[in-house]
Amino acid sequence: MSGTEGAAPPVLLTPGPLTTTERTRRAATVDLGSWDRDFNDLTADVCRRLLAASGATRELVCVPLQGSGTFAVEAAVRTLVPHGGTVVVVVNGAYGRRIATMAEQAGRSVVVLECDWDRAPEVAELAAVLDRYPAATHVAVVHCETSTGLLNPVHALADVALAAGRRLVVDAMSSFGVLDAAVDHPAVDAVVAASGKCLEGLPGMGFVLLPPEVLVASAGNSDSLSLDLVDQRTYMDRTGQWRYTPPTHVVAALREALVQYDEEGGGPARHERYSANSAALSAGMAALGFRQYLDEALRTPIIHTFHAPEHPAWSFDELYELVRARGFILYPGKLTTEETFRVGCIGAITPDVLTAAVDAIGAALAEMGIPVPLEGRRTVDDAEAASA
Ligand SMILES: *Cc1c(COP(=O)(O)O)cnc(C)c1O
Repeated sequence: MSGTEGAAPPVLLTPGPLTTTERTRRAATVDLGSWDRDFNDLTADVCRRLLAASGATRELVCVPLQGSGTFAVEAAVRTLVPHGGTVVVVVNGAYGRRIATMAEQAGRSVVVLECDWDRAPEVAELAAVLDRYPAATHVAVVHCETSTGLLNPVHALADVALAAGRRLVVDAMSSFGVLDAAVDHPAVDAVVAASGKCLEGLPGMGFVLLPPEVLVASAGNSDSLSLDLVDQRTYMDRTGQWRYTPPTHVVAALREALVQYDEEGGGPARHERYSANSAALSAGMAALGFRQYLDEALRTPIIHTFHAPEHPAWSFDELYELVRARGFILYPGKLTTEETFRVGCIGAITPDVLTAAVDAIGAALAEMGIPVPLEGRRTVDDAEAASA
């Protein structure tokens, strides 16, 4: 039996794919027919559980979609923002940038509200942009910018959109089920997330929650055959089936993950566990002398970004290998201006795992000959100066 012998695979400290429970993985070992009523019932149950997990009290429709989270975001943009429409995209990280790119490629007019990556936009900045661009019907914003862990103020931005008569699309991919993504806000037309993040399912399925009247009003907007939320939901309502082959195993695993989400105590309990993970990580890394990229007020318990230390022996690739050998997978940084790396706190893991990961990082630093506690931090300029 290959794969079951030898060392356990390393723990993923990455924000999706992430560490899942054995129970969730086992649920994926059943073959289901996509036309069969068992699978149709499963899909309906998953949609019902996703709506419950959202905490929404207003009526929303769940549209599941094959693919990674990006496919669902792109389907939401193409379905909601009409042809010839203009969308304001808040960009303070790689995922905001990705929304701007996909909207441009879809031929929508894009106005970028750009912020530094360690800063959240002020409500006045959005209000000014909406004032300047009366043609903009929608605003797109990432809730938790996973490229740094930054929390964007979706409620406050939704208030601004509402006052200006505009609609909001929220990429809540890495926060859904744990942080309040403003699902009940009257200006929010779509909340987008996926199977393989805080719900702790397997990757491979996204979903969009939206008010039924928004879905009806969006018919004909999408210029993509497969990325069309209206057609997907209409077909599902008529037949109980997905349009095109569904990721049956991923859906089955997601149901099992959602059952465990409820057993754990839903959003509040998961938030508490992730917060404990985050606190264990932050305290341990601070003791080693690592400095975080974001001010504390902007951080989420989803993922943390750390500055690389200022030491000639530092190499993230080497740290990665040494920590991997000790059983943990770290995540590289996404910043272009400063050298950083990230550690995720989500997945089927508890604070002791984060503490053990910090110990592994400490041991790796010792092996690299980097004394702790660390001093200073490394910037790209330093690295260039060192190699000059
Ligand atoms: C994970 C994630 C996505 C989707 O990324 P995929 O690689 O397509 O799964 C989108 N937005 C945010 C904020 C994310 O964290």
